[in-house]
Amino acid sequence: MPRHIVCLSYDFDTQSGFIARGMTTPTPLSRGEFGALASRRILHFLQACNIPSTWFVPGFTIESYPKECEAVLRGGHEIAHHSWAHIPNASMSRDEEEADLVRANEAIRRLTGKTARGYRSPAWDLSCATIDLLLAHGFDYDSSMMGADYTPYLARRGDRAELGQPYWFGERTALIELPISWSLDDHPHFEFMRTRETVVPGLQSPRTVMQNWYDEFRYMAKTVDWGVLTYTMHPYVIGRGYRMLAFEDLVAKLLDAGAVFMTMAEAATEARQRLFADLSAAGE
Ligand SMILES: [Zn+2]
Repeated sequence: MPRHIVCLSYDFDTQSGFIARGMTTPTPLSRGEFGALASRRILHFLQACNIPSTWFVPGFTIESYPKECEAVLRGGHEIAHHSWAHIPNASMSRDEEEADLVRANEAIRRLTGKTARGYRSPAWDLSCATIDLLLAHGFDYDSSMMGADYTPYLARRGDRAELGQPYWFGERTALIELPISWSLDDHPHFEFMRTRETVVPGLQSPRTVMQNWYDEFRYMAKTVDWGVLTYTMHPYVIGRGYRMLAFEDLVAKLLDAGAVFMTMAEAATEARQRLFADLSAAGE
């Protein structure tokens, strides 16, 4: 029986990403603040459809918007780890990265009663230490890498890439990778960003982007009996009215097409069972 899983994931950054980029004047901060308002309409929609989802919440947001984060939890959604201060991992030392990881996990524990099972790095750039840190701190899955589209895999540690040398594949770990893609992330498609170095135009038609997102699901359904497709959204991005309408229509089409919605922690559990069954069948 085919089973095509869709995970709706929300990176609940609010102002944290703007602060991490040094954008601390009132207007950029207010863009992030809109995420708190938008979270309420997203939760309302998910509740109306009875769809569980996963929220990657920086410690910053948990401590700045406690009521909104409690509402996410009350809605039956998974709270997962997205750093404390939204500083990209690769720009921190190992000790700084671990301190941020622990601080955010403490905030999650105070909110939910337990530490996070899932992790997603700020701005999708793991450091060479991240996989080890996630294993040491009891994480079950990561969702920051792009080595597949709808097929979860086991994350490796110790890969080496040297110019002029063949690629060195490191050791497979027990950490489940639920892969993501910039193409399935609302931010680059929609959010106009102007910094000193660059301009990201964004502001694409949501109907076009949602058709692409639907076609990614159709391709999974056409080619495999089991897979996990993860969409990544930010409340301050997807929460605009015209994007919400397009996204709501996408969800209706996915439901019609038989998509199975679940949290990423649940998808990781299924993936783990399948991956380890495959490994033992292969005698590994
Ligand atoms: Zn983020």
